[in-house]
Amino acid sequence: MMPLEREVLEFVAQVVGGEDAVAVIRALGDRELNDEEIAKKANLKLELARRALHKLYNNLVVRLRRVRDEETGRYKFFWSINVEQIEILVKSWKRKILRKLEAKLKYEEENQFFWCGTPGCRRYTFDEASDNMFRCPRCGQPLEFYDNTKIKEALKAKIEQIRKELAE
Ligand SMILES: [Zn+2]
Repeated sequence: MMPLEREVLEFVAQVVGGEDAVAVIRALGDRELNDEEIAKKANLKLELARRALHKLYNNLVVRLRRVRDEETGRYKFFWSINVEQIEILVKSWKRKILRKLEAKLKYEEENQFFWCGTPGCRRYTFDEASDNMFRCPRCGQPLEFYDNTKIKEALKAKIEQIRKELAE
């Protein structure tokens, strides 16, 4: 599993079932385990592990496989992480990030920026700077043209990377 997938997975687990669910997810890893094994690995009481598993299952984060024990006739339950579902989540997450980055790049491309050079003060667009007579409203220093080429390049590189990942 990719680092982002793991991050998304644990975030979703946290939202769905809190710390117990995160512990269950970590215990599962890439394996398929039964309730007792998960509880032991997650260091949880069986009942708590089961409760977390059901919450995760209801939200499609984990999958369940039932196996009938030929001798006892009873069913055993095996759980594993629903990787396909996590991949869908990661893709939709990435698409959201991509849209935000594209909007940010558009803003950087469509504006000229002015800055006083004081750390902690923000940049101003041309309209904002001219409204303030090219003086920083926060610290009073003159606002000078700010070259945002590096910001645009960094945004473009990130956008390109996410587009590639989404196309995989
Ligand atoms: Zn300033």
